[in-house]
Amino acid sequence: MKGLPNFIQYQNGELWLTENERDNLKISYRIRDIIYAEQSPYQHVMILDSYDFGRMLVLDGVVQTTSIDGFIYNEMISHVPLTFHPNPKRVLVIGGGDCGAAREIAKYENVEQIDLVEIDQLVVQVCKDHLQEVSGNLSDPRVRFVYSDGVAFVREAVDTYDVIIVDSSDPVGPAKQLFEFDFYRNLHRALKADGIMVCQSQSPIFHAEVMVETYKSIQRLFPTTLLYTAVVPTYPGGLWSYTLGSKIHEQPANIRSFDKQTRYVNRDILEQCFKVPQFVKELL
Ligand code: SAM
Repeated sequence: MKGLPNFIQYQNGELWLTENERDNLKISYRIRDIIYAEQSPYQHVMILDSYDFGRMLVLDGVVQTTSIDGFIYNEMISHVPLTFHPNPKRVLVIGGGDCGAAREIAKYENVEQIDLVEIDQLVVQVCKDHLQEVSGNLSDPRVRFVYSDGVAFVREAVDTYDVIIVDSSDPVGPAKQLFEFDFYRNLHRALKADGIMVCQSQSPIFHAEVMVETYKSIQRLFPTTLLYTAVVPTYPGGLWSYTLGSKIHEQPANIRSFDKQTRYVNRDILEQCFKVPQFVKELL
């Protein structure tokens, strides 16, 4: 590594990562060590060892997941749609290169195939090598890694998946189109007749516009559209939103028998998760 990566500075002899979140907000993490830092064809990829959040995956200077709080996000983006669907067999993850969501999905014995479509092979490699608290060095034979653009991939898929999970980075760079209506329309077509999709829909505090636009796009396509939230400490604003679109109206039947080994999700969370705070309701 030649010199310090752009996003890292020395301050009084200490290493700090600073995320430039908005014009008037910077979030900084004290770093113990830079484990990996390279530019891929798509983005700048780092694994850092931080004091408070353990190892972190950082893309273009933005924290994506950490060994301390990654389980909250990954369990919520996976178990909510997988328990909502009566019998998920074929699951597609778009993005999700840290492998955390695929690792949760692999806990379902009835799932036969997990296609993980990640644009950047380097993210998968470094997370398998250096972020095993999140990736679990995923090697389940049901996971098929496809290294390509998720936008192009779903254009070609029709009536194929029971569940699609969009585990994308923020809506900039290669992830921008993953927040557009055309993409959701293609997702709808790629799902089977009783299919369900979920995407991360950003912060209700700092990205309310993106969250509302995502919710409205999904609502135009799916008869059942539900938003849920969880607190993920390393995401700006803390409170994070997910939007679920389902082609069928029924409420999930199999939550009471939820028996997976998890750290955040449990039966109570699954039953209550669609109860959102008042200000979020009003935004929608
Ligand atoms: N949990 C994280 C968050 O909300 O910040 C996101 C995790 S995951 C690391 C996001 C992944 O989406 C990245 O690895 C990125 O390479 C991938 N990605 C971005 N745009 C993509 C696209 N168009 N197709 C497939 N993968 C994409």
